[in-house]
Amino acid sequence: MAQQEDIFKKVVSHCKEYGFVFPSSEIYDGLGAVYDYGQNGVELKNNIKQYWWQYMVLLHENIVGLDSAIFMHPTIWKASGHVDAFNDPLIDNRDSKKRYRADVLIEDQIAKYDEKIEKEVAKARKRFGDSFDEAQYRATSPRVLEEQTKRDALHQRYQEVMNAEGGIDLDGMKQIILDEGIVCPISGTRNWTDVRQFNLMFKTEMGAAAEGSSTIYLRPETAQGIFVNYLNVQKTGRMKVPFGIAQIGKAFRNEIVARQFIFRMREFEQMEMQFFVKPGTELQWFDEWKKRRMAWHQALGFGAENYRFHDHDKLAHYANAATDIEFKMPFGFKEVEGIHSRTNFDLSQHAKYSGKKIEYFDPEDNTSYTPYVIETSIGVDRMFLSIMCHSYCEEQLEDGQTRTVLRLPAALAPVKLAVFPLTKKDGLPEKAHEIINDLKFHFNCKYEEKDQIGKRYRRQDAIGTPFCVTVDNQTLEDNTVTLRYRDSMKQERVNISDLRSIIEDQVTISSLLKNLK
Ligand code: ATP
Repeated sequence: MAQQEDIFKKVVSHCKEYGFVFPSSEIYDGLGAVYDYGQNGVELKNNIKQYWWQYMVLLHENIVGLDSAIFMHPTIWKASGHVDAFNDPLIDNRDSKKRYRADVLIEDQIAKYDEKIEKEVAKARKRFGDSFDEAQYRATSPRVLEEQTKRDALHQRYQEVMNAEGGIDLDGMKQIILDEGIVCPISGTRNWTDVRQFNLMFKTEMGAAAEGSSTIYLRPETAQGIFVNYLNVQKTGRMKVPFGIAQIGKAFRNEIVARQFIFRMREFEQMEMQFFVKPGTELQWFDEWKKRRMAWHQALGFGAENYRFHDHDKLAHYANAATDIEFKMPFGFKEVEGIHSRTNFDLSQHAKYSGKKIEYFDPEDNTSYTPYVIETSIGVDRMFLSIMCHSYCEEQLEDGQTRTVLRLPAALAPVKLAVFPLTKKDGLPEKAHEIINDLKFHFNCKYEEKDQIGKRYRRQDAIGTPFCVTVDNQTLEDNTVTLRYRDSMKQERVNISDLRSIIEDQVTISSLLKNLK
């Protein structure tokens, strides 16, 4: 674990050192949980967004895009339930003055029991070797059973307080924290305040006071922009149910605890798709979207073992199924994407609050209904973090040296090809520029002439550039260059006229999409 945390720290400093992510307003000492993407970060982020957009919108004939405004009519947030219920339960430790989400403290405690159980099982597996019967061990080992009983009891109590009538039972939550002996990791004490609800939406004013200003919220999700445009898109696009609307955009949440770098930010970006279906078919579509989204993640080639579904214990009152896709980060399996079956709650609420009829006339059976909705919602920044963590690699080389390499999927890499003149003379820089001028229309190329070639390779490895080309004196004679591959570090002599065909196939977003056929 310590080693994993170490990797996480290294990824954070690597992101800064190589122009991926900077703390926002850094020269003013930063702004809590807000980050800026640097010259390489913005390219990687754009590529992630393209990968998502092209999969959702280009590969699905029945999904179209949208770009709705961040500011929306304030009643939208009343209708959606965010004004009254977009709260997190918070608790403070009086000694450290640190603030925590009470639900997260309890979930971490459940995870601790799980960890203990897994450790016992792993120890036994080692002890018994091939003859180990895991199912039997789990069912009979007194230690495992003891931990499992405690875990299940806690889980049961947690579900009860989260699903209490009239909303979360805040006193019950505090009691669990006290009964479990959960301490503040900073002060080590159990000196807790009561649990309180905290609304996560940012507010601002629109218009000058004299004209009668109104309170506006910064959207905490992009989804509502899709719901309120459902009729516009359905009618003008002549869309037939089932169909989807996809949108990428900023969202804002005044998160209570903002740690773990870009995992939990106060300003972040979402890629959301609302899929409108006929009532009664929603659970089939929910399963279908679970499969499709998981396939999208796994097509990056990071290994199926790094993903899992986590079905929700606590369903929002309007949902009839919900799951998260979790990715194995250095700090454990964490949610990257949520898939929710939201029934017809949002459309019905907007119909009610706006007084407009929001329905679909189904020409197949001449009926009108309010469509049900399956939502897929993924955070660009969390996706970015998962990709950085998985790609970061410190490698021991044969000559005893180490290199830091970002093994990014080539299609997501900020720079696809770096071109180096061996020296700054003899017309080599001009030749290198000639190559770039030809290839820059097809993919992102970068010119580098400073330092020895070895150092230039290392710098490109560190930002994940899959291909480097060196131009030398022989190039001027026979139009060949040395092509060097990031992962294998293999080098080969190739003709300049072959570069495009060797590289392009491997670096386009469509090369990733092909894995999804
Ligand atoms: P969490 O339980 O971690 O707070 P959530 O369940 O509230 O997340 P959703 O409302 O389902 O998250 O949002 C969908 C996706 O948006 C999440 O899976 C995550 O990738 C992303 N996301 C949500 N909140 C943040 C945040 N504060 N910073 C970065 N990404 C976020």
